[in-house]
Amino acid sequence: MNPKLVFWVPAALRMGLILAGVAILWWLFGATPALIVAVIMMGAMVFAQLNYLYQLSDWLDDPQSAKLPDGWGAWTGIFSRLYRLRRDDEKNQAELTEWLARFRQAMHLLPDGVVIMDDVLFLEWCNPAAEAHLGLRNDRDKGMRVTNLIRSPEFMDYIILGRYDQPLTLSFRERKLIVHIIPFENRRQILVTHDVTETERTEMMRRDFIANASHELRTPLTVIVGFLEIAASEDLDAATRMAHLKLMTEQGHRMQHLIEDMLTLSRLESVDHPLRPEKIDTRTLLEQVLRDARALSSGKHEISLEMEDVAVQGNYDELHSAFGNLASNAVRYTPAGGSIRLSWSDSEKGAKFVVEDTGIGISPEHISRLTERFYRVDKSRSRETQGTGLGLAIVKHVLLRHGGNLSIKSEAGKGSSFTVCLPKI
Ligand code: ADP
Repeated sequence: MNPKLVFWVPAALRMGLILAGVAILWWLFGATPALIVAVIMMGAMVFAQLNYLYQLSDWLDDPQSAKLPDGWGAWTGIFSRLYRLRRDDEKNQAELTEWLARFRQAMHLLPDGVVIMDDVLFLEWCNPAAEAHLGLRNDRDKGMRVTNLIRSPEFMDYIILGRYDQPLTLSFRERKLIVHIIPFENRRQILVTHDVTETERTEMMRRDFIANASHELRTPLTVIVGFLEIAASEDLDAATRMAHLKLMTEQGHRMQHLIEDMLTLSRLESVDHPLRPEKIDTRTLLEQVLRDARALSSGKHEISLEMEDVAVQGNYDELHSAFGNLASNAVRYTPAGGSIRLSWSDSEKGAKFVVEDTGIGISPEHISRLTERFYRVDKSRSRETQGTGLGLAIVKHVLLRHGGNLSIKSEAGKGSSFTVCLPKI
């Protein structure tokens, strides 16, 4: 039914009834009593309307605690509509609050930084990632100009040029960031930051690795090609030819070692090559390491092994490669006549494998860098002794996969001690 009719028809009916009642009273008792009754009824009606108006104004002042009456006549419809409006409003408010909470949570978890600014770059809000990337603080910096907070000439140029369709690569507070400004709404802008420090570092390591590996391979290859050219152009006597062949074989072996070590490293780093731990026969492993070390030393050093009964688990070949590298380093960096002590023992921190030598030792400034790929203290000595510069990098990766660690103590001219700790079973 038409809402106007719903409002007017009952009101007209009520008025009609009152008028009819007054007319009957007039007819029965005369004009005076009928008029008195009519005034009283009109007064009661006006009072009821005023009372409802008062309650409505009270409710509008404080809709949370004041209560609306059920109402009478047209008021019933008005009050129930107001109730419905309030319920819808509360529902919308709750939905909005929930959305806002979800949005905030998403923004908190986002690894990229988000800064909301007005059209003149005054900070309105930023998420924790932006705080970390740009050194901002939501509570402290709100309302400040972003160009005063991010003090970088590259960033200033980006703002001045205003070429926001292209991102800016920004070096800021020891981070490498990709920064992008996106205008939105009419008078707001979002600044998005993406941290690429780690990606850049990995990319640089990859580039360095390729450059180093190529350099390492080029040296023996140049020697081999040089000898081959001589052999092709000159008539060499048998003794010189043999000497050349021997040198070429040595260089060939060097390349072979290098490639084997690079393949080992790449296998250790590969996610497709997870560790399948098995119980290690430590006696066989350590005796094999001792035998290999003695063979490499060819009797030039005194090499001993002490063993306690401690069980570990892991990959036999990987641990053999790690322990073998440490033992072979001890042999290669200890002058003839020196001694090397291998020991396997139980300790509070786990199973301990120690390789101690009385060799050339290492100065303190090199120690923290020894496990970097191709890092050598003395390049020529490493090459002379068939070193690839990858041995300790392999040790580090094997231990990482086994939950172990390596510690190095050394003194130049006195000797070194390499200690491996592995979790016991
Ligand atoms: P390399 O193949 O050159 O031996 P490593 O990664 O095994 O490569 O070792 C890195 C460097 O650490 C070596 O070049 C050497 O300078 C130093 N080093 C490793 N072990 C010893 C040791 N026992 N005594 C002295 N120096 C060592």
